[in-house]
Amino acid sequence: MDLNYTASEQQFRDGLRAWLAANQPADWNGSQGFDYLRQWQRRVHAGGWAGVSWPREYGGRGATVIEQVIFLEEMARASAPPLANVLGLSLIGPTIIAHGTDDQKRRFLANILSAEEIWCQGFSEPNAGSDLANLSTEARRDGDHFIINGQKVWTSYGHVADWCELVVRTDPSVAKHKGLTVILVDMHSPGVEVRPLRQMTGESEFSELFFHDVRVPVENVLGAINDGWNVALGTLMHERATLGAAMHVTYKRQFDRLLTLTQQLGRDQEPLVRQKLAQVYSEIEILRLNQMRAVSRITSSGAPGPEGSIQKIFWSELNQRFQQVAQEILGPFAQLEKGSEFAVDGGQWAHSYLRARGNTIEAGTSEVQRNIIGHFVLGLPRSY
Ligand SMILES: Cc1cc2nc3c(=O)[nH]c(=O)nc-3n(C[C@H](O)[C@H](O)[C@H](O)COP(=O)(O)OP(=O)(O)OC[C@H]3O[C@@H](n4cnc5c(N)ncnc54)[C@H](O)[C@@H]3O)c2cc1C
Repeated sequence: MDLNYTASEQQFRDGLRAWLAANQPADWNGSQGFDYLRQWQRRVHAGGWAGVSWPREYGGRGATVIEQVIFLEEMARASAPPLANVLGLSLIGPTIIAHGTDDQKRRFLANILSAEEIWCQGFSEPNAGSDLANLSTEARRDGDHFIINGQKVWTSYGHVADWCELVVRTDPSVAKHKGLTVILVDMHSPGVEVRPLRQMTGESEFSELFFHDVRVPVENVLGAINDGWNVALGTLMHERATLGAAMHVTYKRQFDRLLTLTQQLGRDQEPLVRQKLAQVYSEIEILRLNQMRAVSRITSSGAPGPEGSIQKIFWSELNQRFQQVAQEILGPFAQLEKGSEFAVDGGQWAHSYLRARGNTIEAGTSEVQRNIIGHFVLGLPRSY
């Protein structure tokens, strides 16, 4: 396996670096509101960098998988603000490209790229997370509309979303995977209620969604009626393949900062501290190399393999170990949150320790990823 970038990949990276150097906002401090991120995505879009891997005919840049990873790495390396419409760009837009009608593509794709319309992913329910096919939000046909009733939970970006990729049950009489449909729902429709949930970090990244007799035109079905399981699986594959793609860069930057703080605290001579730092450093390097292996496989086979699940387990559990080590080295001041005069790095370490707890749950829990590897890689019987 060749770990070096080709001349054209280097050219892509250099072009992006130059663009970022000229356009990245200097005042980004991580705490500006959502409108700031929307404006930033507009600028990225105007520069031709939004949806890098989308085909050119849909407004993307037609970049290869490796170039997409380079894009994510360079954004992380530059500590650029995140893009506002992250789910639309990385999960839902590609699903519309794969399954949408021409009308749906015309209607939705350009507004995803420009952050005109923000998207959320309405999959999980109180009784359907890992066992997604168990979901019970129902859509009943009424002429040329569906009428939707039910509840979703943990919907990231739900409180700012204009549209939702919603998985609903359209046929309760067949096996649970077979009666599902994906439908695109206008979040401003009458009957949609959004209740933000407060996380232990103090933020509200996600919400509960309630649907009370929400009328949605049949033309908003994505893919075929009762084929929603396949459409939703496509979205989940994109989620696993892209979510951790540039984590090694983010972790490495944070690790370098921890190294500096360790030296400033005079703890760099302590044998146990050195052991722990070396272990974290090695794991970040393993993450980087595994990422290249996963990308290499997608490039040669055209589809993500089980590497997506291996990566998901590794980046999420590595981050929890890393944050634990940071807390042990930095001591009680690292537990102070934003707003406290004595908080280390403005409370960044307290925030990242608390936020890391959700890493092994979001995009499929570690247990579920291990089940996938057990079944699809090791050939073990299914766990359910
Ligand atoms: C930060 C964050 C963002 C999220 N964003 C979204 C979003 O935008 N949209 C969305 O739809 N959802 C979202 N989710 C929800 C996420 O997908 C679910 O939380 C996740 O799939 C787990 O489902 P659950 O919470 O219902 O837990 P459960 O499925 O009830 O699992 C509970 C426990 O049982 C274990 N378990 C379950 N089944 C098995 C099994 N077969 N074998 C072994 N162990 C098992 C699990 O690993 C877990 O430890 C988000 C979650 C988080 C934390």
